[in-house]
Amino acid sequence: MLYNVKLFRKYQNIQAFFSRKSDSSMKLTSNSLLKKRISANREDYFVKNNIDPKNVVSAKIVHEKKLAAVHEKDSRKIISGVDGLITQNKNIFLSITSADCLPIFLFEPEKEIIGMIHAGWRNLEKGIASNAVEKIIKLGGRPENILVGIGPAICQKHYEVGLEVAEKFKKYPEAIKKEGGKTYLDIKKIAQLQLLELGIRKGNIEISSECTFELPKKYFSARRDKPKIVEAMIAVIGMKNT
Ligand SMILES: [Zn+2]
Repeated sequence: MLYNVKLFRKYQNIQAFFSRKSDSSMKLTSNSLLKKRISANREDYFVKNNIDPKNVVSAKIVHEKKLAAVHEKDSRKIISGVDGLITQNKNIFLSITSADCLPIFLFEPEKEIIGMIHAGWRNLEKGIASNAVEKIIKLGGRPENILVGIGPAICQKHYEVGLEVAEKFKKYPEAIKKEGGKTYLDIKKIAQLQLLELGIRKGNIEISSECTFELPKKYFSARRDKPKIVEAMIAVIGMKNT
């Protein structure tokens, strides 16, 4: 399913996708029994969306802050140990998976740089947002040009965390809510505040109001489903040749 980032709309060569539960799980696994099925799910999804599976680069996410800059030669690769991918190349598609965490789509239109990030509280705290922006700057991009689409993810109301987690974000009190002895974290807000600190314009950050937890027919949610093996959506961004 095409994921509609309004900020990208005027750039017709940019395509963003976010799968649905009905597409089945896209979560990469090392479980040998599941591997075949997951890769069939992914292949089907790509073909259905007119994405050549040969052109997809995938991040095997680990909740860390590392990203990789990738090129055409990385097509079809699964890159371990990274939670984000950045490229300037056309016709390769960058992908991550998420099921409550934030899928973050990035586009720097002037230098034509795209990025795809998976961000949860762990790697937001470690600095994945600043790493991504730094990588874009390194490729010649400018923070004030960057357009950001933050896709469906868990909302604050459904994201109870331990006090020790909230403590890590005390710099962002507006993202923390305490109620009835419980603490709730707003990861969409944290990402937004961090991106603003990095020089991205407020009007250039678009945040989905959809909560993965609240939409059991549409999305997987790790928090809600508590599956033994995580099931997740795939988020993809690509830049076509014009
Ligand atoms: Zn919610």
